[in-house]
Amino acid sequence: MPKFDATLGYRPETLAVRAGQERSQFGEHAEALYLTSSFVFQSAAQAAKRFSGEEEGNVYARFSNPTVTMFEERLAALEGAEDCVATASGMSAIMAAVLAHLKQGDHIVASNSLFGATVQLFSNILSRTGITTTFVSHTDPAAWEAAIRPETKLFFLETPSNPLTEIADIRALAAIAHAKGILVAVDNCFCTPILQKPLELGADLVIHSATKYIDGQGRVLGGAVCGPKKLTEEVFKYLRTAGPTLSAFNAWVLLKGLETLKLRVEAQAANAARLAVWLEAHPKVARVFYPGLPSHPQHELARAQQKNGGGIVSFEVKGGREQAWTVVDHCQLLSITANLGDTKTTITHPASTTHGRISPEARAAAGINEGLLRIAVGLEAVEDLQADLERGFSLI
Ligand SMILES: *Cc1c(COP(=O)(O)O)cnc(C)c1O
Repeated sequence: MPKFDATLGYRPETLAVRAGQERSQFGEHAEALYLTSSFVFQSAAQAAKRFSGEEEGNVYARFSNPTVTMFEERLAALEGAEDCVATASGMSAIMAAVLAHLKQGDHIVASNSLFGATVQLFSNILSRTGITTTFVSHTDPAAWEAAIRPETKLFFLETPSNPLTEIADIRALAAIAHAKGILVAVDNCFCTPILQKPLELGADLVIHSATKYIDGQGRVLGGAVCGPKKLTEEVFKYLRTAGPTLSAFNAWVLLKGLETLKLRVEAQAANAARLAVWLEAHPKVARVFYPGLPSHPQHELARAQQKNGGGIVSFEVKGGREQAWTVVDHCQLLSITANLGDTKTTITHPASTTHGRISPEARAAAGINEGLLRIAVGLEAVEDLQADLERGFSLI
């Protein structure tokens, strides 16, 4: 059987189950898990050629492993990227993408509503290497442009934002960046390539925490950087030397996760849309944040940029922390955890967890108030999720 050719215009459903698979001599139908840290050569001459890069092939699992390669090729096909480099986690993907392309003295302009660990990475760790970051309004392209300095090398964003689901205009930001020769990296964790293709919108690099929707069942950590080979090559060089490589076992889990990604993400988004409409009409709810609702201030931009509103819904319970916690504490079904993208619905109180380290003033300025709850909608029946939330709502 000829190797699957991902360039033949196959649709995402097909790419998700077929792209990247490399069969061994045994003709296994499912993708094999290669648990090996190193690879043997047929001769001293071949070993020399593999090490020098003159001959393609596996050498050592910090550099490559066939199961990891299958995952990389499948994700690249779904993102419409020339290449993909897998990493041990989403954070190591961000670290690798930045350190591959920036050096001491360089500057990043980043959204002020990034994943918490990304903010810490930029502010407290990369800053020690002399790479500085200016955080600007997620939704105001003029602020990004105004923050550009001669040494700016990177725009970094994720959209929709967590937890308020604000939309950053990828196309507009890419135009501003490219006019000055600045790279644009988009963390596409919330949408996945099923709902949003940042490279088509002008981004240079797409970053993933595969831990979330790509696994989709809360089992393993993983990450990836996708983009044109001339950019991912630098990420690979960093990775093979610095070492935060994806394990073969995790790659195998994630490869199988990709097969159902479209089914899950679309079903979760449909559930989220129904839940958002229900919450918006609920007398105990002050406000709902969901890009798929016409009441979302950037609904039109979201429609132009993403296929639908996605699987994350946030809302403000009337009152404050006490009322929000009452809803959380009476959930029997929804899991109280900050993870997202799982088939099991999760509920989080951002002000006391994911955004708890931010000062109350900064939190208020960002619009994350004490009544806010974030739900990452799973695959349960929406009626059951509603009944679970109603237990707490009825007590406040
Ligand atoms: C979880 C997450 C990350 C970090 O990913 P890990 O796999 O936990 O390292 C980065 N960005 C976003 C948007 C996330 O949700």
